[in-house]
Amino acid sequence: MYFRITYLFFVLCACLMTSCDSTPKAPETKTEQLADSTYDDHSYSNLKEIRTSHLDLDLEVNFSNKTIYGVAHHTIINKGSDTAIFDIKGLLIQKITIGKGKNERETDFVIGNMDKDSILGQPLLVTVKPKTTQINIYYQTTTDSDALDWLDPALTSSKKHPFLYTQGQAILTRTWIPIQDSPSNRITYSAKIKVPKELMAVMSAKNSKRKNDSGTYYFKMEKAIPSYLIALAVGDLKYHAFSSKTGVYCEPQLMSSCKYEFEDLPKMMNAAEKLYGNYQWGQYDLLVLPYSFPFGGMENPRLTFVNPTVLAGDRSLVSVIAHELAHSWSGNLVTNRTWNDFWLNEGFTVYFEERIMEKLYGKEIADILALVEFHELQDELKRIKNSEHPEDSRLFLDLENRDPDAGMTDIAYVKGAFFLKTLEQKVGRKNLDIFLKNYFHKFAFQTINTSIFSEYLNENLLSKTKIDFDSKEWIYKEGIPENCVHLKSSRLDKMVQLAERVNNGEKALAPKITFKTIRRKGRKKRKMIVTKIERKDHIVQEWQTFIRALSPTIGKETMREIDNRLNFAKCGNAEIMTEWYVLGIRNNYKQIRPQITAFISKVGRRKYLIPIYEALCETPENKKWAKELFAKISLNYHAVSRNTISDLLNEK
Ligand SMILES: [Zn+2]
Repeated sequence: MYFRITYLFFVLCACLMTSCDSTPKAPETKTEQLADSTYDDHSYSNLKEIRTSHLDLDLEVNFSNKTIYGVAHHTIINKGSDTAIFDIKGLLIQKITIGKGKNERETDFVIGNMDKDSILGQPLLVTVKPKTTQINIYYQTTTDSDALDWLDPALTSSKKHPFLYTQGQAILTRTWIPIQDSPSNRITYSAKIKVPKELMAVMSAKNSKRKNDSGTYYFKMEKAIPSYLIALAVGDLKYHAFSSKTGVYCEPQLMSSCKYEFEDLPKMMNAAEKLYGNYQWGQYDLLVLPYSFPFGGMENPRLTFVNPTVLAGDRSLVSVIAHELAHSWSGNLVTNRTWNDFWLNEGFTVYFEERIMEKLYGKEIADILALVEFHELQDELKRIKNSEHPEDSRLFLDLENRDPDAGMTDIAYVKGAFFLKTLEQKVGRKNLDIFLKNYFHKFAFQTINTSIFSEYLNENLLSKTKIDFDSKEWIYKEGIPENCVHLKSSRLDKMVQLAERVNNGEKALAPKITFKTIRRKGRKKRKMIVTKIERKDHIVQEWQTFIRALSPTIGKETMREIDNRLNFAKCGNAEIMTEWYVLGIRNNYKQIRPQITAFISKVGRRKYLIPIYEALCETPENKKWAKELFAKISLNYHAVSRNTISDLLNEK
């Protein structure tokens, strides 16, 4: 990757630029790359020489032609370079100026070629003077601006107003803002956003709590953040406060569900602060998006974006909120320097999330959550082992020349969390908690890579406690080390046993009739007692475990019988429905096709779409059906999901 970029710079410099002084020098080895705090496989920017310290956006959001127009004003710190390099993808650059106000002057710029696989986009090289402190890029977005999801009213809860949201992680911010799009650079930002008067704009910044009459909104993010955390949403929104510093934005139609589902938010904040220190961002709000959102949540600072599938009606999926809140420390406060270090964001967050869940709902529930994820990790490990990149089961990755999304697997999340759980078991919870609290404090508002973390771990925990723990085996070797902590849950074991009875042909879910002798008016009487298993008897993760343990050959009749008793197909909980649809597809239970169609036409969350489409791809007949359906509904998805599913359906 790096060498290809260097070559590109040479061509551009030789042909089009007057000076080549700013051409970055290629680090000789990977060790040198790691020591370079600005080295990033996934950005063209020359951060070492010149970097943005503050970004000021002046943008207009036009729903009629689905375009954002405006200016990105970059305040820069220049160490004497005559060229500033930004990342762009799918943007039209109109003109670029340097200087402020009366001193603003147009300057030359060159747009380099798109990389071979269209992952990175294009470098934008801007001519500057050594004393330049401001660069103004006038631009507009296009239909190739993949961060943007423009939703027609039919895809919102109101069905009356359109909606727009952005998704920056991992390298999509460059598709709606021309920017040095590397997590290694932290910047502050401000914005003026003009939107249609009937809509409200919110960002990962200080937000107003009410819609105004002018349609113009002003924002400030005063803490320095990486570019992937700049986020914008525009829609018909209302706000509800849970406490002085927590609340939720959503479409009015979802408000009563949100009030109920997220009521524990202040308690979660309390639990998180008690664990690892004060929340550093002032306000913490949620924004519930339309169903097309490709993730469960996105930890945009001060304003977590949430998928509405979390609104299960029984608070059973609120661990997503604990997860996003935890990112306010791991990820947002201490940030992965490159996408190879993604596990530092996600592994720590899953560990932290489960500690919050344990504080609120007890150890048994936290262990059940962890075990279900550990089960998913086993499937992921098998997939990775048989893939082109078996080395992807290491925590520290090498994603050079690859889309950083390839690193968004259960390895970063679950193997990362089990690394910390195992460490906890070795050094004791008290020692680990002191270490983590100090870690978040020491590296607050910085970016770090895996080798900095390893060094800090050795110096501040392992050598202090004289514990023999091979962290390198976890971080740099494939698979799960033998010393991995072993969790157990009798509640999940019972669900597996129940499923095995069904697999063996027993009517295990049929009502049980027993007789009991009672005395009435001095006489003995036999009373019939009917015991039924109902869905409310078990939590979501128990039912997930039950369905996963059912055989793909139990047959249509048994599927129908279970559905009649427990109504999984229409239960409204996306976790259960996904498991049930996958099992239904494998059992050729075509009766649930209408429910599958309705579900995947509405929900764009990748976690649910991938297993359903994968199961459909297992037979030519189902694959054909899935392809036809996808052709009709793919515009209901954000580009992140659309691209993933398109790749999946077109694989041989
Ligand atoms: Zn996360």
